[in-house]
Amino acid sequence: MANLHLEVVTPERVVVSEDVLGVVAPGSMGEFGILPGHVPFLTSLVPGELRYNSGSRSERLAVSSGFAEVSNNRVSVLVDAAEKAQEIDIERAKKALERARERLAMERGKQDVDHLRAEISLKRAIARIKVVQKSI
Ligand code: ATP
Repeated sequence: MANLHLEVVTPERVVVSEDVLGVVAPGSMGEFGILPGHVPFLTSLVPGELRYNSGSRSERLAVSSGFAEVSNNRVSVLVDAAEKAQEIDIERAKKALERARERLAMERGKQDVDHLRAEISLKRAIARIKVVQKSI
């Protein structure tokens, strides 16, 4: 029986609020998995894929940067943006990927704020495209 509660929240909406069996999320130190009974834990998240399993089905979300907190069998994910596969506009993500690649190519060698922003937006676009492709 599920006894882990997952909440995925953005500044705009609650994307997920349900009981699940397990969660895998893209932590800044690498991907990590959470099962019921996990010790309390706080980490930042990088753009990537968040997966969860609610018994009969498993779901994938594209998430952008944020934080995850695990406490008392509750996983709270607060991110700038999160979309389920069916909510992702693949053409928009491909255009965002192309723009980010162009920016990175123009600023090759620089390590400034714009370069970092382009790298993060590249990761967001890649995460969205992967989530759609894996869900087909
Ligand atoms: P873009 O340059 O296309 O806006 P982005 O990575 O800069 O992409 P975000 O700032 O991460 O976009 O997101 C802004 C809002 O748009 C969020 O609500 C996010 O869920 C939504 N969003 C962004 N890209 C997509 C997409 N490809 N499909 C569906 N929703 C998207």
